Amino acid sequence: MELEQDELVGKLFGNLEVIGCYSRDKWGAKLYTVSCAVCTNDRELFHNGYFETLKSSLISGKLPCGCSKAYKWTESQYILRCQRAADERGMTFIEWDGNFKGNTTRCIVITAEGNYFYPQIRSLLSTIKSKSQRGSLPRGEKRIPRRPKPDDVMVESFLITNVFAENTKFSRRDNRGYWDVLCGKCGESYCSKSYNLQRGSISCKCSPHSATQSYINLIYDNELCVALKFGISKQPDYRLYQQQMASPLKIIRHSIWKFTSYTLCKQAEGECKNILKCGVVGPNELADGWTETTSPSNIEYIEDIFKRFGGQRI
Ligand SMILES: [Zn+2]
Ligand SMILES: [Zn+2]
Repeated sequence: MELEQDELVGKLFGNLEVIGCYSRDKWGAKLYTVSCAVCTNDRELFHNGYFETLKSSLISGKLPCGCSKAYKWTESQYILRCQRAADERGMTFIEWDGNFKGNTTRCIVITAEGNYFYPQIRSLLSTIKSKSQRGSLPRGEKRIPRRPKPDDVMVESFLITNVFAENTKFSRRDNRGYWDVLCGKCGESYCSKSYNLQRGSISCKCSPHSATQSYINLIYDNELCVALKFGISKQPDYRLYQQQMASPLKIIRHSIWKFTSYTLCKQAEGECKNILKCGVVGPNELADGWTETTSPSNIEYIEDIFKRFGGQRI
């Protein structure tokens, strides 16, 4: 929708700056797009830091952003917040225990000692974070010992990725999700988290692609290219497949770039994230990796940056 000229555009309301008016609510009232100076600092959580609100809310001081106690968090935002809260305690957030149903959803969290517990989201998030609490449980939460999934079920979930060489051996190292892998082809062994193995990540030398590759994918919405996704991957094809499976949008390969070292590859990605406006696609469209999306018009900038760091299109 066209930007409507409006007397509120450019005005400040506390931390909120009115950016424009691009749409209307279902009753026809103007919806203002505002940028919050606080929320915009957390791009991982708030994307570009833009929110929509009504004039009456702006005037009455009702906040539309994450600064509001009544902010309606999305499921992907809750996942990120739970991961952060668990990390702060030296624990690992695994997934929801059952279906997501708002802030009373129970989480599956593993402590550093490998114990499982199941706090509600609001309990995991409400506890005060301090260093002395690392490794401790939110108040009122009991440790519930639970057996990890049987080894054969786990191994099956690794093999389903179809990337491990025949006769590759997997053995569980501990209860925290670490596995020892002995490659059936090159004989190299390595330790990896089950999460990575389930994603088909190989760490031995016969990995089909080294970690010195970057890819550029194109994201289409109804035949219209709406974004570029760039990233580093040992297995750009499997990564593309994962993105296609997880997104309602159409994603296709643009190009793969090879670098002479992982450091250069990583630096090129960092430069893209620094220079280009990223996060043009939200977590609902691309849950995993939406922060490395940018406008299709930036394709030449990305290619220039890749070349500057020694990248070669292959
Ligand atoms: Zn805010
Ligand atoms: Zn190998």
